[in-house]
Amino acid sequence: MQIKTKGIVLKAQDYNENDKLLMILTEDKGVIYAYASGARRMKSTLSTVSSMLCYGEFVLFKNRDKYTVDSAESERLFYGIRNDLDSLSYASYFCELCLQAANPEEEAKDILRLLLNTLHMLENKKAHPALLKAIFELRLMSLIGYAPDLIACGECGEFEKPAYWFNIESGSVICTDCRPNGANGEILLSKAAFLAARHIVYAPMEQLFSFRIGENALIELSNAAERYSVSHIDKRLPTLEFLNSIRSF
Ligand SMILES: [Zn+2]
Repeated sequence: MQIKTKGIVLKAQDYNENDKLLMILTEDKGVIYAYASGARRMKSTLSTVSSMLCYGEFVLFKNRDKYTVDSAESERLFYGIRNDLDSLSYASYFCELCLQAANPEEEAKDILRLLLNTLHMLENKKAHPALLKAIFELRLMSLIGYAPDLIACGECGEFEKPAYWFNIESGSVICTDCRPNGANGEILLSKAAFLAARHIVYAPMEQLFSFRIGENALIELSNAAERYSVSHIDKRLPTLEFLNSIRSF
């Protein structure tokens, strides 16, 4: 059976002497593992499309549970990210999160769109990469069913208090008037960080990146978004460990 789908290569591994195994985030079928025969040869028509961050249209052949790449046409290669170690480290982490988060055989249009938009912002340096990381983490968690509840304080229902405790496990918030001291597993968010997090979870995709945030609030947001997604993915993420070893915050 042949299928044609848009997708982006999240990871490409050498396989045998000449082949590659691609992990592709596709619009229609989530993450697909597909063999690209001959892709390691320079002259292969599949060599360009068989590298991480290549976005395009893939024609895949499915035989039982195994996919192979018949052909592919690249639309975007994100060279600006590949040629910059910092950006590449962020992108590798975003790809690994998608690999862990997207379910096989389930459509993943929204996740793919989120990833492409984030990579576009990263490549063109349109926002601080730490902000892009926080946006990507929180929005991805929301897309896969772990949206935190950031409408209002869980006790008094007020939605614009000076500060909130954010619970990493449940994703709920309690304002500091209702609870002056946070409990274990809770992070303090200033109003600015809280409003940013709320925007990330509820804004329509077209407005997702359209907000500003100060540095202190960004540090809080960044910490909360990372801890929240790590606790929900619940797997070791080597690309995150590497990213955190090289980034300043
Ligand atoms: Zn309250």
